[in-house]
Amino acid sequence: MYIEHLIYSAALAIIIGMAFLRYTGRDQSWIIIFASIVPDIDYLFKIGCEFFSPLPSPTFMHGDFHAIPGLIFFSFFIALFFSNAGIKFKHALFFSVVGYSSHLIEDFIVHPPYFNRYLYPFDTTLYGTKILSDVPDLVIANSGTLLIGVMVLCAAIIVRTRIEPGWSVKKYVGNGVTACQKSIKRLMEGNE
Ligand SMILES: [Zn+2]
Repeated sequence: MYIEHLIYSAALAIIIGMAFLRYTGRDQSWIIIFASIVPDIDYLFKIGCEFFSPLPSPTFMHGDFHAIPGLIFFSFFIALFFSNAGIKFKHALFFSVVGYSSHLIEDFIVHPPYFNRYLYPFDTTLYGTKILSDVPDLVIANSGTLLIGVMVLCAAIIVRTRIEPGWSVKKYVGNGVTACQKSIKRLMEGNE
């Protein structure tokens, strides 16, 4: 459910960003959207390991990063990455934790206990409620989940544009893209 993760986390980010701007004068809440897609890279690791590893059993499984240790590890690195763009580490860490957690909670609500292993690698118990979907599909979980997400996202955009007349989706996404480019540039400069 990549698409749903993007949609739900975008709605969450837009609303949290509005409050954050009011209290700190800044809004880097688009980090929530970025962090929300990170847990599923365990699937890419799984494919990569199956392709390159000489070992018969898979060394990585989808769900290995759907865990609290993964949340701590990756949130720290996402925050470190965006601190290269001049964003305060603690702010970036807050948004990373919110984004990564939102992914784990969404998977818990939508899917059966197929891959969420919240305590991996310490415990391999699977978690999930199967409230919205029977089949864990990577791209779209189901039309109901998607439809609810689109409605929630539209509501978040309407609320924010009403409360903050200067705010636009284009500017918001643009700020995120610029910070990503800046962070990558700083990283490259640092490695030279
Ligand atoms: Zn997932």
